[in-house]
Amino acid sequence: MRRRRTREQAEAILAAHDHLCGLCRMPIVTPRDSWHFDHIIPLADGGTDDDANLHPVHAKCHLAKTKADIARIAKGKRIKERLHGERRRSSFRGWRRFDGTPVENPRWRGR
Ligand SMILES: [Zn+2]
Repeated sequence: MRRRRTREQAEAILAAHDHLCGLCRMPIVTPRDSWHFDHIIPLADGGTDDDANLHPVHAKCHLAKTKADIARIAKGKRIKERLHGERRRSSFRGWRRFDGTPVENPRWRGR
């Protein structure tokens, strides 16, 4: 699970990264900028919740990254669905004439 960190621990991690955002590499100015911790290796990809796997990121950069991750995951899902769709379509063996009568494509014979 994600561990909660004290303000002192948070400041230490921020200092360890020279107060630079891990995503856009621009300075994080506290307390003006709102910022989050981000997992360098996502927990979903086997990353740990150790300080070494955390970098500070601007809240806006983090939100943009999270959106991109969601888009990437959604895209993977779409590809899977498309593959299923193609598998379904592959059971369709014939073509149809303009009048709607089925025509077998000779190239598909024997499948
Ligand atoms: Zn940033």
